[in-house]
Amino acid sequence: MSTFSGFLDEIENVSVDRFTEANFRSRAFFLSHCHMDHMVGLNEINSLNQSLPGPLYLSEISKVIIQRRYPTITNLIALKTGETTPILFGISICDSSVTKKTSVTAIPAGHCPGSVMFLFEQDNKKILYTGDFRLYRNDIETMIALKKFHEKINLDCLYLDSTFLSLDYRNFPRQRDSVNTIIDLTENWLDAHPKNVVLLRPPANYGYEFLLVELSQYFKFKIHVAKSTYNDYLYIPEFDSYISSNPYYCGRIHLCSPDDGNTEWKSKTSTCLSKLDERHICIIRPTAMKWKNLNEDEKHYEDVVGVANAFSVCYSNHSSYDEIKFLIQYLRPTTVKLNVLPNQICQRNEMYSILDDITKEYKVEQPQDVDMANEKLVNTKYNFLKMTSFTNKRSMSIAKDDISQLKIKRRRKF
Ligand SMILES: [Zn+2]
Ligand SMILES: [Zn+2]
Repeated sequence: MSTFSGFLDEIENVSVDRFTEANFRSRAFFLSHCHMDHMVGLNEINSLNQSLPGPLYLSEISKVIIQRRYPTITNLIALKTGETTPILFGISICDSSVTKKTSVTAIPAGHCPGSVMFLFEQDNKKILYTGDFRLYRNDIETMIALKKFHEKINLDCLYLDSTFLSLDYRNFPRQRDSVNTIIDLTENWLDAHPKNVVLLRPPANYGYEFLLVELSQYFKFKIHVAKSTYNDYLYIPEFDSYISSNPYYCGRIHLCSPDDGNTEWKSKTSTCLSKLDERHICIIRPTAMKWKNLNEDEKHYEDVVGVANAFSVCYSNHSSYDEIKFLIQYLRPTTVKLNVLPNQICQRNEMYSILDDITKEYKVEQPQDVDMANEKLVNTKYNFLKMTSFTNKRSMSIAKDDISQLKIKRRRKF
């Protein structure tokens, strides 16, 4: 769940994924994807029949969703992924930052339909805001927009989806593998008896778009969803062909129970299955939180203890620790800021210490492919060094001295 305020410290007058009154001083707005914790404020603006005080940049799919869901919010600018677009600040005010040349590039985030990351560039500053993401090593390595940061250009700041920045969640199966497991479990159950049905019980109310589409396409019928869930998914283009809130039009897969945590697994009172014998119901719970310390070659589903015909399946649309670590070390950002912070201070400190360990590995490296004419020394929040943009040879030699001294200090310290 995003805890990000919406403001980028490096670029004034923009707000990302937050649209409350405090953000109204911004002059350009950005939406990474259409999950409720990233759209805070949009519902209120729409119910007051208002719009934002500047353009809203988003992906083409998100644009369709916002147009359907919040019709009063206008001035939407759809970004094509991979294309760099200049940012237009809505209102001209007496602030030099508004006149600074600023651009944005949307990069696919692999989290849900239309989800993107934003790469902001202003003067020499380069900032990547990930939003929520699920990207594998191979995805990251083949993204042209990210390659330049791996090779020689400095990324100043990474605003990171840190949902699973924890050593407990080093590995998750790929979403495709999780979906295949759920399809297998479902098929076995449906084939066993003509009255059998599958009831999906995810722990959250949204984030299962990919799973619903894949199940519907494989079994060639619509999934029955609760009215409230249907309203959330209703705005996604094409979703009408995969789900319905009327069980009459659907097959034997249901997502029509409210989120009730881990209790009352077989409770069906609020579903359309109340009259069906429990023996015909199989519960499948796609979840990531439960799956701590899962190894790559380990089975990623299990029976729910004490409940007949109930399975928990590891399913995540956020990157695992290993995937997050790869992204950070691939981009080598000067600063990393965490967008999903736990409530408790001790847990936050643990997360920062894990981040420190990840960045430490590249902080001490000598820079690769450095453009000697454009290098400078940057001492960051995490006290690490990286070489970029220097103006002359003299300052270059100072930088080298500083680096060697700091390296000595580091060796003594450890
Ligand atoms: Zn999300
Ligand atoms: Zn149902």
